[in-house]
Amino acid sequence: MTAFVAINDGSFAPPPAGASDGAILSGLLASYRHLKNSITQIDHDQLVVATQEGIFAAHLPGGTTVSAALKAMSSRDVAAQLRQLLSKAKPFDLEKGEIAGVEAVRFGKVLFNQRFVAGIQAAYSVNGSSLSCGINDWNQHLRVTVRDASGAEASELIANVWQEDLDLYNKQTLQSSEVRVLPDYEDPGHHNYKGPNYQPGKSHIPSNALRILSAALPENRTTWWACCEHRFFHRYAGREVNEWPLVHWNGTTNPDATGNKNAVRTTVELVPISIRRILEKFPVDNCGCKEL
Ligand SMILES: [Zn+2]
Repeated sequence: MTAFVAINDGSFAPPPAGASDGAILSGLLASYRHLKNSITQIDHDQLVVATQEGIFAAHLPGGTTVSAALKAMSSRDVAAQLRQLLSKAKPFDLEKGEIAGVEAVRFGKVLFNQRFVAGIQAAYSVNGSSLSCGINDWNQHLRVTVRDASGAEASELIANVWQEDLDLYNKQTLQSSEVRVLPDYEDPGHHNYKGPNYQPGKSHIPSNALRILSAALPENRTTWWACCEHRFFHRYAGREVNEWPLVHWNGTTNPDATGNKNAVRTTVELVPISIRRILEKFPVDNCGCKEL
């Protein structure tokens, strides 16, 4: 399934004093990255961005075109990433908010603060999220009015991404498109042999446990697995907190790991075979495995 995120052209609002058009675009990229990083790397290709047609020629509030603002950016890396993001995006038209080549799944005219915004219409039509410029004070949900063909109006919510935190509604909206949204992560220290909470006999947590989790797949809501460059599988386990899974690093299939010298071992056979085959194609480098 595809998860759509439509760039909210209504968020190209005047930036705070002193901020530039470049800052607007940087905020957009930052918001997009947070959204993408909330999904397992294995599903990144399923996240599709939509933006208004002719985006490079569109004017930003400071008066420059997107194209000129990209050229003027001090960070070439940020500019290159934005160029790539916008070039690959599917265009929607500014009159109806219809995404080229994509069929709508929800119908009705969407009004936000009594006005039509093509990007918000596009997000609603494909059951996707809106992506707004991070420097503006947009909310994580947009409360909109949807008017159907008969003229009847209903109030609805659209998930909106504009800052570093994605809330439960943002994540559930992504999840409804069947992309696998990562669990939240914590490190209680039970596997950190240098820390005060270490529980003797437990395997040593890799120094980049959170990085390894970025390419994980779920066995169930609160048990996730990932594969590292050493072809060890790493288990993350936890519990539901506020309706979302919160996991910690919980073991490795490295046969030399401390925990695997005990009676209760973490073995490859514990990883469901269907997951194992996919994970092996997405090994995470720079894992920081200990005990090698
Ligand atoms: Zn490793």
